[in-house]
Amino acid sequence: ATPLALIRGGGIAATRGILIRSGEAFQILKDITYVVFDKTGTLTEGKPRLVEVIPLNGFERDRALVLAAAAEEQSEHPLAKAIVTSAQEEGVTWREAKDFHSVTGGGVFARVEELSVLVGTARHLRGHGVDTNTAEAALVEQEAQAHTAVLLAVNGAPAAVLALADTLKPDAAAAIAALHEQGIDTLLVTGDNRRTAEAIAEQAGRVEVRAEVLPQEKAGLVRELQASGARIAMVGDGINDAPALTQADVGIAIGAGTDIAIESSDVVLTGGRVGAVGEAVRIGAISYRKTVQNLW
Ligand code: ADP
Ligand code: MG
Repeated sequence: ATPLALIRGGGIAATRGILIRSGEAFQILKDITYVVFDKTGTLTEGKPRLVEVIPLNGFERDRALVLAAAAEEQSEHPLAKAIVTSAQEEGVTWREAKDFHSVTGGGVFARVEELSVLVGTARHLRGHGVDTNTAEAALVEQEAQAHTAVLLAVNGAPAAVLALADTLKPDAAAAIAALHEQGIDTLLVTGDNRRTAEAIAEQAGRVEVRAEVLPQEKAGLVRELQASGARIAMVGDGINDAPALTQADVGIAIGAGTDIAIESSDVVLTGGRVGAVGEAVRIGAISYRKTVQNLW
C-alpha cells in the first residue's frame, strides 16, 4: 500500500479503538484466514465470581470455603482471587497457610491448620493421588452451565466443588459472526476444561474449541495451525498469551490486558472491544484499495 493508504487506514482504525503498530501489520491483516481467541479476559470479561460451593462426602459448605480460601490466598490466579474475595465477603477468617505451592494450569497445594489442602482441576488432584469419582457428577453439572468448576480436596479426599462464572463480553458473539461472514475461521483456546469451554463457545456462536491447553502450549498450537497453511491472528490479553501473540502472523492484544501481551502484539484494541478484530481485518483489506469511502 502507499503510505497514504496506510495513513488513511490507520485513521479509520484509530476512530474504532484499533491501534495498528506497523505498516507490515496492515498487509498481513488482509490475508488472515484464521483467528485464535484466548478465552479468559479476551472473549470473557476475565472477572470470575464464585457462584456456588457444593460440599461433598459430608463436608460442611462453610468449612470448605474457608479451607479453599486459605489455600488460595497466596495465589495470583483470578480464580483464586475470586474464592478469597467471596470468603472475605462472607466475613470468615482463617490462619495463614503453610507450604504453599502452585502448578500452572492445575491449581494449588497448601497446609492449612495441619490439613493438606488441594484446590484445582480434577487432573491436578488426581496427580496428588486423590480419587475424584465422588466429585464427577457435581463437576459435570457445573461445567455444562459454562461454569469453571474447581475441586477442593482435604487430606486426600474430595470435599467440595467450587463453581465460578465469568461472563462472555457483550460483543463476543457479534465479533465471531463478523469474522465468519468474512470467510475467516475462528478458534477458542483455553486452559479451562472441555465442557466449560464448549458451553462458552456455544454462547459465542460456532467457534471451534481447544480446551485444557497449558499456557506454554499455546504458541505451539499456533505453529501447528500455521504449518497446515493458515494465516493466523491471535487475540489475547495475558502474560501466558505473549509467546502465542509473537508466534502468530498478527498478534492482537486487548488494550486492558497485561503490558507483556501488548508489547508482544502488532495490533492493540485500545477500546477493549473484541468486536474490533473483524474491523481490523477489513481495514487491512481496504487500505489496499484505491478508494475507501464507499467500502465501509
Ligand atoms: P485460563 O486459560 O482460563 O487462563 P489457566 O491455564 O490459568 O486457565 O488454568 C487452567 C485451569 O487450571 C483453570 O480453569 C483451573 O481449573 C485450574 N487452576 C489454575 N490455577 C488455579 C488456582 N490457583 N486455583 C484453582 N484452580 C486453578
Ligand atoms: Mg486471558
